[in-house]
Amino acid sequence: MQSYFDNAATTPLDPRVIREMHTALLECYGNPSSLHRTGRMAREAVEKARAQVASLLRASPEEIYFTGSGTEAANLALMGVCAERESDYHIITSQFEHPAVAETCQALKRQKSNHRVEVSFLPVNSEGFVEPSELVKALRKNTKLVSIMAANNVVGTLQPITELGRITHEHGALFHTDAVQAVGKIPFNLASQPIDLLSLSAHKFNGPKGVGALFVRKELKLSPLILGGGQERGLRSSTENVAGIVGMGFAAELAKQEMAEEASRLVRFRDRIIESVTTNIPNAYLIGDPYRRLPGHLCFGFQGQEGEAIRLLLTLDEFQIAVSSGSACSASHADEPSSVLMAMGMNPIQARGSLRVTLGRFNTDADVDHFLEVLPKATAQLRSIKTNFHPTNTNFQKRGHS
Ligand code: PLP
Repeated sequence: MQSYFDNAATTPLDPRVIREMHTALLECYGNPSSLHRTGRMAREAVEKARAQVASLLRASPEEIYFTGSGTEAANLALMGVCAERESDYHIITSQFEHPAVAETCQALKRQKSNHRVEVSFLPVNSEGFVEPSELVKALRKNTKLVSIMAANNVVGTLQPITELGRITHEHGALFHTDAVQAVGKIPFNLASQPIDLLSLSAHKFNGPKGVGALFVRKELKLSPLILGGGQERGLRSSTENVAGIVGMGFAAELAKQEMAEEASRLVRFRDRIIESVTTNIPNAYLIGDPYRRLPGHLCFGFQGQEGEAIRLLLTLDEFQIAVSSGSACSASHADEPSSVLMAMGMNPIQARGSLRVTLGRFNTDADVDHFLEVLPKATAQLRSIKTNFHPTNTNFQKRGHS
């Protein structure tokens, strides 16, 4: 079994979640829209999960809409607000959003409609933060929506979303946050935070893949992306993925119960790794602020070895360690710099090579010991090998960002 340090890409299902889903698959096979007893059982399971997700976020159950993924939730938030427009809109996002938001903004810009959408991309500082003063400068009279991620998926830095949301609200605009990396790892209180829309995804907090949710503040009107039978109160048609939703709900309940204890364990691992890596590997440096980051999220650069990030990843893979590269992780894009690191002001050479190490619920002290023993050897080994690296020789295929 590999020591799995790629929890930002996805997390393993918690066995307790598997048990709940197994029961749901066997017993809640009815269609939640059916009126008979079997259908009502499935409906109850979906509504229980809605309450569990709401409780994790301190929201009301009627503010939670299940979707097919975090990507779909973010698309629904942005497209759903803009579809309602009766005039030209301006939206603001950052230069280092996940493609779920960035690509949706680009698509909105290209949309042919009587009313145009203009998009501003806020800069990011070298520590990995969007500065509130930049938002103040970018706001316009017709700014309708601001969308800034809660935690960055490459460097793990936590954005000042409460302050950004407050500034947005003072201006009279709506605030969406892509919280896919943050939910289940840091607390949210949507009863008091100035957030109108929030996207989340179950597979990032030990729930199943292919199920997400969008928080939509009460009274906010959105247009649906998927039309049909009117499920999810008309906002997301299609028969509900009952077992997936049950899994998401239970994963949310576990995350709520165990968050404080888990975060302190992961922070302990994280800080131990920072200390050891930056002390024992002479050219290693941490990317992004050391403290205002997700409990288990690390991203390192290796001065002078930037072109070797993928080789380092594959060497670690041979040593049974799974990590990720911060650059675009694909054969056809292996030489491309990471847009996130470029946005943080790194030069294209530095932005080509980083190592993302993301810890999760099932990591142990033994995993961390193993990683800290192997990483210095792997970096030293690469320094001494001077062969050419051809990304097409690896098993990498074109992949999305995670
Ligand atoms: N937003 C962020 C910040 C992410 O890291 C991811 C996934 O990696 C997504 C959105 C997309 O979530 P999903 O995989 O559920 O579509």
